[in-house]
Amino acid sequence: MSPQPVAWPPRQATLARLARFGVTPRRSLGQNFLVDDNILRLILDRVQAQPSDVILEVGTGLGVLTEALLAEAGYVHSFEVDRSLRESLLRVFADQGERLGLHFQDVLSAELERLQPAPTLCASNLPYSIAAPFLAEAVARLPQVRRYVVMVQREVAERLAAAPGSKIYGGISVWVQLFASVKEMRPLSRRIFYPVPRVDSILLTLERRKVRGLPAGDPVLVRWVIDSAFASRRKMIVNSLSAATGLAKAEAEAVLRDADLAPTLRAEQVSPAGYLALAEAFCSRGLRPPATPPGMVGRIATPRGEQQ
Ligand code: SAM
Repeated sequence: MSPQPVAWPPRQATLARLARFGVTPRRSLGQNFLVDDNILRLILDRVQAQPSDVILEVGTGLGVLTEALLAEAGYVHSFEVDRSLRESLLRVFADQGERLGLHFQDVLSAELERLQPAPTLCASNLPYSIAAPFLAEAVARLPQVRRYVVMVQREVAERLAAAPGSKIYGGISVWVQLFASVKEMRPLSRRIFYPVPRVDSILLTLERRKVRGLPAGDPVLVRWVIDSAFASRRKMIVNSLSAATGLAKAEAEAVLRDADLAPTLRAEQVSPAGYLALAEAFCSRGLRPPATPPGMVGRIATPRGEQQ
């Protein structure tokens, strides 16, 4: 992808910083910067932050969205994996130390639940390749976040919003819908980014649901059940569960019956509520997943976005 030339002198803040910081966007990090002030306003409008709010942003980039969020909320945590931006960002935000936590690390390895103050909102132009895994972790690990306003690849938004029965309904759809409902999916022009990406994007608004406790308070168990069911989506759920969990077919059938689910269903025909009932049934029978690595909620299959 060859970036288009930046008009000189640049008027939009991102373009101006691009020139001032001497940054060449890195495709491998999904650096498609937002260069449209109307969309910046739209994000703020959708976020509806109060001065008491703490916003989590993933991908500080050149700090333009960060700055806009700081104008609305009491505190912003912003993660950026590209350490070459560190010095410039620290200079730009030198007087914001009290209200801004800049975290120069991969957000996927961050201990999100330990962030202080705890985030109450999330607003981000998410790097495409980590949008789905980040949202899968965040919805489970940040129960205080009541709304997500995030720019994601169109296919990722569609998959998160997919209904049972749809071809693109998968483990990630079930998982995210257990915690949040899709409020709005607004298509965006590719031209609001610099460089212009090769994929379409959507501004996705997710609202947190009132989440009834997961079975035994155990998200790892729920994710294991969902993953196992979708491990072979063409098979009947009884066979898929049995193959992926190691249960005998008769036992898998009995667990499904406990959850009022027909063994002949396919994984994609079961609603998020059905998966909760299934996890409850596993829990009641004392069936547990194998040990998962510490620090991970589970290992749900999340589609990685395309690289730009
Ligand atoms: N917020 C800026 C904007 O809207 O112009 C930048 C958005 S850009 C699409 C995504 C940013 O996320 C890049 O700056 C990239 O370096 C950063 N990034 C990529 N992967 C990351 C990760 N795993 N953790 C934290 N930041 C990441």
